[in-house]
Amino acid sequence: MAQKKKIAVLTSGGDAQGMNAAVRAVVRTGIDMGAEVYAVYEGYQGLVEGGHGIKKLDWNSVAGILHRGGTIIGTARSEEFRTYEGRKIAAYHLIQNGIDGLVVIGGDGSLTGAHIFYSDWPNLVKDLLAEGRISPETADKYPTLRIVGIVGSIDNDFYGSDMTIGADSALHRITEAIDAISSTAASHQRTFIVKVMGRNCGYLALFGALATGADWVLIPEAPPNVENWQEVLIDRLKAGTKAGRRDHIVVLAEGARDRDGNYIGSTDVQTLLEEHLGEEVRVTALGHVQRGGKPSAFDRNLATRLGHAAVKALLDPTKDPAPIVIGIRANAMLEMPLMECVEKTQEVAEAIANKDYERAISLRSTSFKEAFSTLKTMVRALPHQADPAKKRVRIAILNAGAPAAGMNTAGRTAVRLGLDMGHIMLGISNGFEGMAKNQVRELEWMSVSGWASQGGSVLGTSRKIPKSSDIYGIARTIEDNKIDALIVIGGWTGYEAVNTLLNERGNFPALNIPMVCLPASISNNLPGTEFSIGADTALNNIVEAVDKIKQSAVASRRVFVVEVMGHSCGYLALLSGLATGAERVYIHEEGITLKDLASDIDTLNRGFDAGKRLGLFIRAENANAIYTTDFICSLFEEEGRSIFDVRPAVLGHLQQGGDPSPFDRIQASRLARLCLEHVLLEVENKTTSCSFIGVESGKVIFNNMRDFDRLVDFNTQRPINQWWMKLQPIANTMALLAPTEQE
Ligand code: ADP
Repeated sequence: MAQKKKIAVLTSGGDAQGMNAAVRAVVRTGIDMGAEVYAVYEGYQGLVEGGHGIKKLDWNSVAGILHRGGTIIGTARSEEFRTYEGRKIAAYHLIQNGIDGLVVIGGDGSLTGAHIFYSDWPNLVKDLLAEGRISPETADKYPTLRIVGIVGSIDNDFYGSDMTIGADSALHRITEAIDAISSTAASHQRTFIVKVMGRNCGYLALFGALATGADWVLIPEAPPNVENWQEVLIDRLKAGTKAGRRDHIVVLAEGARDRDGNYIGSTDVQTLLEEHLGEEVRVTALGHVQRGGKPSAFDRNLATRLGHAAVKALLDPTKDPAPIVIGIRANAMLEMPLMECVEKTQEVAEAIANKDYERAISLRSTSFKEAFSTLKTMVRALPHQADPAKKRVRIAILNAGAPAAGMNTAGRTAVRLGLDMGHIMLGISNGFEGMAKNQVRELEWMSVSGWASQGGSVLGTSRKIPKSSDIYGIARTIEDNKIDALIVIGGWTGYEAVNTLLNERGNFPALNIPMVCLPASISNNLPGTEFSIGADTALNNIVEAVDKIKQSAVASRRVFVVEVMGHSCGYLALLSGLATGAERVYIHEEGITLKDLASDIDTLNRGFDAGKRLGLFIRAENANAIYTTDFICSLFEEEGRSIFDVRPAVLGHLQQGGDPSPFDRIQASRLARLCLEHVLLEVENKTTSCSFIGVESGKVIFNNMRDFDRLVDFNTQRPINQWWMKLQPIANTMALLAPTEQE
C-alpha cells in the first residue's frame, strides 16, 4: 500500500476568531482526501521544539470547535524560528514526522516566515545531511516543502484578499461596543473616543464608524488632510451639538497619525476635545475584546472555505511548488503568490511610514475608498447648502416586504447623501400600501439619526403587492408629491410590486419615473445579487441560537432538528449548517426522500453506537411539504432504538429581528449610495428605467426589471442560479462521520 501523504497545519502570530474553523476544515479535507494531518502546536515554536509539539489529529479531534474563538492548537511568536538554526531544527522535526506539506494560518509576519522557510528548505536539508542527521535517501525524499498560507488576522490588512479570517468577528465586537456606548453617551450628552485595533490598517476603524453612525474617524492611511484638523474636528462636533446631536463618537484607529507622521493618541484627542467642548470626554480602548468571543457566521464559513481550498491546493501534485496564499476575492477562492502579496501588504506600512498617504490609500480596495468617501458625508452635522441653480430632485424611498435588518441603514445613507447633494428626500410609510394612501413625508438630516444601527423598519413596511385600485393611488401619490424617482428597499414582494408598476405604465403615465430595488431580505432569495441585506444578520441569529441549543444537550444523547426560515430558498439552512457543523441540511432545492431519511437514521444509529452524543440536523422551512420537522423528529425518535432522543427547534421570528450585523450595515450603505447615484443619473438623462441592484462576482450590476421573470422561478420564489449551492459539497465533506464510524 502506498504511504499516506502527511501534511501539517499551524496557527501563528496574533490569534483571530475563525482560526478553529480553518483548522477543522484542513484536518477533515486532508483526511477525506486520504492524507494524514498533523497539528503543530504553538505556531512555529512547535516546529522548533518537535516532540509533543507535533501531533497527528483525527477526524473527531476537531469536533465541536467551530464556535470557539482563538485557536485550539495554540499560537505563539517564535524568536528561534527567525534564525536559520531554528528553522533547521524545524525542518528536521518535519522530516522526522514524514511531513512535506504545511498549511500556515497567520498574518503577514507568519507568512513571511513561511516564505523564508520554503526558500531555505534545500539548504536546510543539505545541512542536515552534512551533519549526518538525515540519510541521503531521506534528503532525496524531501526536495521541497509545499506551503499554503491562509490569512488569519482581525486587521483585514492583507493585500489581494477582500477579507481575512477574524475581521468580520472583530467588527461584530466593535459595533456591539459602539452601539452600547452610543446609548449611554446620548443619555449623558457625552463625547466618547473609541480606540480600535488594526495596526497600519484603518479597516476596522473605518467600517466600524460607518456601521455605527459614528461622528468622526481617524485612520492611518488617510490622516486629516489639513494642518488645522483639530479645529475642523471641534467645529464639526460643535455644529453637531447645535443640530441636535446628544452625543459624539470619535473612532480612533491605533495606527492613526497626522500628516507629519505623528501618532494621534487617545489622550491627545481627549485633552483637545475637553478643552474646546467644555464637557466630559471619555476614552474606551476596546483592546483584546476585539480578538475575543465567538467567530461570526461569516468567519466560520470563510475559514472553512479557505481551509478546504488550501488542502486541495496543497495535495494537488500538478501545481507549482512555490508557496501560495488562499484568499477570497469577489466571493470566490483565489490562489495568489504568497511573497508578492506579503510584499504588497508591507508596502502600505512603508508608504505610511514615508508619509506617502496617497500611495497608502491607493493600495486599499475600491470599497475601502468608497466607504471613506461615504463616511465623510455621513459625519457632517448638516448637509452642504443646495446650489440654487441646480434642480432639486425629489426622491422617495420605501421599504417593502418582510422587515430585514439593514433597511434603516440603507435609508439613512440614501437620505443623507441625497440631502448633501441638494435634493429632496421623501420617506413613504408602510410600503406600497402607504404609498397608495399618500403616506409621504419629507425626511431631514437629523430625522434619520440613529437609523444606522436599528433593526426592523422605521418607515414601516408592508408585504402588499399593489392591485388595480392601489395602482391608481400610487400614481396619484407620485403626481401629488412630484416624485422624480423611487428607491425600494425590500424583498421579493417589493420586486414583484415594482414589476407590476412597470407593467402598468401604459395605463398610468405617472409611473414613468426611474425606480430601483435594493435587495433586503433575510432569505437571500433575490435575483441579480449574491447577498441581500438582512441575510447576514439572520444567519448570525440562527448560528447563535444553534450554538445555545447544542450546549443545552451536554448531559444527554440527543438529536436536534432545527427548522429555519427562508421560504423555499435554502441559503440560511445551508450556510447555518456549515457554520454550526450540522451533519445534514435539508433544503427544498434538493428535496427530501424516504431513502435519504432512512440513510440518515442509519448513520445516526451507527454514530451514537460509536459514542456520539449530539446530532444536529437543519431543515429549511419549505424543504418538503410532507416530511415536516415534526415528522422527521417522530421518525428519528421511533427508529433511534432508544439510544438517543430527538427534539425539534423551530427558530421562528428571532431570525428576522435584532440589530443589523456589520456586514449588513456596510452592504446597505454601499448599495444605497449606488442606488441614489443611479436614479439621479436617470433623472438627469431623462430616462426612466426600472431596475434592481446587486453585486455578483465583485461587480455591481443594475439588472433591468424586465429580466426579473427570466432570472427567477416564480413557483419557488427564488433565483434560478444560486451561487451558494456550490458550497454544498464542502458542507457534506465537513459533516461526514469520522471514517472509523463509517466503517
Ligand atoms: P503575524 O503573523 O500576526 O503578522 P508576527 O509578525 O508576530 O505575527 O509573526 C509571527 C511569527 O512568524 C514570528 O514570531 C516568527 O516566528 C515568524 N516570523 C515572522 N517574520 C519572520 C521572518 N522574517 N523570518 C522568520 N520567521 C518569521
